[in-house]
Amino acid sequence: MLNEGRQTRGTGTAAEGPDTWTGARALDQDTPLIFEQDSPGACGVDLPDGPDVANRLGGLERKGAIGLPGLAEPEVMRHYVRLSRQNYAIDIGVYPLGSCTMKHNPRLNEKVARMPGFSDIHPLQPESTVQGALELMDRLGHWLKTLTGMPAVALSPAAGAHGELCGLMAIRAAHEARGDARKVVLVPESAHGTNPATAAMCGYAVKSIPADETGRVDLAALEAMVDEDVAAIMLTNPNTCGLFERDIIRVAEAVHGVGAYFYCDGANFNAIVGRVRPGDLGIDAMHINLHKTFSTPHGGGGPGSGPVVFSDALAPFAPIPYVIERKDGDGFHLVEHVPDSEVQPFGRMKGFHGQMGMFTRALAYMMSHGSDGLRQVAEDAVLNANYVRASLADVMSQAFDGPCMHEALFDDSFLKGTGVSTLDIAKAMIDEGFHPMTMYFPLVVHGALLIEPTETESKDGLDRFIGAMRHIVERAKSGDAEHFAGAPYYAPRRRLDETLAARKPILRFEPAMQDAAE
Ligand SMILES: *Cc1c(COP(=O)(O)O)cnc(C)c1O
Repeated sequence: MLNEGRQTRGTGTAAEGPDTWTGARALDQDTPLIFEQDSPGACGVDLPDGPDVANRLGGLERKGAIGLPGLAEPEVMRHYVRLSRQNYAIDIGVYPLGSCTMKHNPRLNEKVARMPGFSDIHPLQPESTVQGALELMDRLGHWLKTLTGMPAVALSPAAGAHGELCGLMAIRAAHEARGDARKVVLVPESAHGTNPATAAMCGYAVKSIPADETGRVDLAALEAMVDEDVAAIMLTNPNTCGLFERDIIRVAEAVHGVGAYFYCDGANFNAIVGRVRPGDLGIDAMHINLHKTFSTPHGGGGPGSGPVVFSDALAPFAPIPYVIERKDGDGFHLVEHVPDSEVQPFGRMKGFHGQMGMFTRALAYMMSHGSDGLRQVAEDAVLNANYVRASLADVMSQAFDGPCMHEALFDDSFLKGTGVSTLDIAKAMIDEGFHPMTMYFPLVVHGALLIEPTETESKDGLDRFIGAMRHIVERAKSGDAEHFAGAPYYAPRRRLDETLAARKPILRFEPAMQDAAE
């Protein structure tokens, strides 16, 4: 079975060396599904028999086996360690996934998040027993408000997309409070897919704003599109082409001029933190991805966290719960109910407070950097991206002229006539030991390759990456398309049918399927 699972690995070509009996390649060892390793009854621990209690389930009790695989502890350990070795991680190497800000997660954050006072508490504990946790949330909120120049914050959203939903729900509530049912949200062509999806989820029609020839929002087109039916614009700054929207103040004026609100997708805050305060740009609501800018692990490594900051105009509609410091010096209070007052929260985003472990990590990161350190984060992220951009500009085709912010965008015109595609380049990068960059996004660029190195790469690390990219591109241009069609050669799995995997994912183990295969 192990060898069968390796079919996509290819047969022992010279590049791979001779076949092995196990199918392993030394440290790279395959592992069947955990359900396929089931030895019924095997268990990592001895449990005493349960007490004899009267059955009160009224015939609803399970009759058959529970269906969990039986394995001893060492087998479970090997299974997951082997799987982990097949995966790429920020702790292995450069992870230049544009728009994702895959930066190093400082271990200090992890240490702090594991302190029992933060990690072993429960959201239903009496408030007097979790004062430290509430203070931490208050402090984090203070940093976010100060860094963005915005007066209010909702910490509860669980990710960037959830933050967008939170922001647009506040915007909808603000319009509804005035009895003004608007129908349209404007979204630039280069936006992350979550922006139009969020607007649609809130019941708005989405209208797309074209980009100009510099990769930024076409201001004239935008000004022609805003009218009294527009509820909001959702703009990303820096945008997903890695460019600062220079006309942002005029965008804000145009939007506010018709009584609409300005939502900013702040996922790219890493490029401007400590240097630009979004509140000064006329923004009404913006989510911040703690798992990007503030270094909490993401992807397979941890949950997201997408706090939203609000302007004065939207603050009254921010969701509950939120933390306040009691005036009488009596500690902190989590506001869960708002009796008739001037604030009108639109509701809540989550059952409890939000992602406490991420709050802890993000605040540890902020406090260990300090405000000057956070400013340097942005400066170094932009410097690194421009170093990559300038070092590859002569062999690849930069999508838009001039310097970039935190990520460098290339299109695929440098591949014209080579028979090699953006996807092929990405697969070749896997063989060189790198996670590919973001591909085919943003959509405004043909065959996009979006590279975000982040500030945590050293110059040596960047030079190694640049050297590999130049080698790959030169090989593509030298007419070796056949090599690319077969890449990756050294990954645990070879070229997969990604369309099939996306459209018809098999997410459930069915024993019958296994029997039929055997
Ligand atoms: C990452 C990202 C999002 C979505 O954030 P999630 O936490 O993945 O939901 C939205 N917009 C942009 C520009 C992003 O880069």
